[in-house]
Amino acid sequence: MTTFDSHAHFPSETIAEHEAQIARARAAGLAGILAVGGGESLDEGAVTMARRFPGYVFLALGLDRDCAATLAETPSALKKTMADLRSRISALNDEGIPLHAIGETGLDFSRKPTELEKEAQIALFEAQLELAEELGLPCTIHSRDAENATLASIERHGSRVLRARGRLGVIHCFTGGKEFADAAIALGLHIGVSGIFTFNNASDLRGTVRTLPRERLLVETDCPYLTPVPMRGKPNEPAMLVHTATRLARELGSTPEEIGAITTANAMRLFSPENA
Ligand SMILES: [Zn+2]
Repeated sequence: MTTFDSHAHFPSETIAEHEAQIARARAAGLAGILAVGGGESLDEGAVTMARRFPGYVFLALGLDRDCAATLAETPSALKKTMADLRSRISALNDEGIPLHAIGETGLDFSRKPTELEKEAQIALFEAQLELAEELGLPCTIHSRDAENATLASIERHGSRVLRARGRLGVIHCFTGGKEFADAAIALGLHIGVSGIFTFNNASDLRGTVRTLPRERLLVETDCPYLTPVPMRGKPNEPAMLVHTATRLARELGSTPEEIGAITTANAMRLFSPENA
């Protein structure tokens, strides 16, 4: 089966292990992988992999909610933080390494942030939605315990042009309910199905995903986290995506080949329309 891992991390500390993972991903039929940054170590690893495997490992760079912690103390730093990200992106462009998405970015209120910290997360997220519009790129969006705030930011700052083209982005590692999924779809977003979908306690999530339009579904590992059943206990890697895609196919009453082909085409249209 062909699949596309729409959200993988390659932390720079473990970069030596990742080359072998790419060989296993190819052997498992993966058509490509989006290597996702979000902070220093994740960005460095993602760039290393995109450089090493051009045309197979696609690159996403951004600033995740953890980067917002320092901004809560000094809000004036947002401008400089965004300028730094812009200059890193343009340096890579000059080097011939294209960016395929912004992220990960988004909101996480699960660890009970203060109001100030929430505001900093929102400001950082909205600045990246604007950068995405400027660069014509989709966002890979994290949202946990912050559904309404996520939707409000996207409504205010998500690009109308990208929305019209179906390239606004994806709520990655989706764990929300039907209402959030429908609202995200109505905004033009995709839904990222991760290994969580295979967990025993995820029947509500499976029920929600079954109701969504197939042309908006992506599959992802979010490796090295969230190893799918039946590989629990091992570190996750892109090759293990086949377990998630196979389970998704079963839930949708389809074949792994068909769901693999649909989710691959969806990912290519979103991240690399010139190759779709
Ligand atoms: Zn992630």
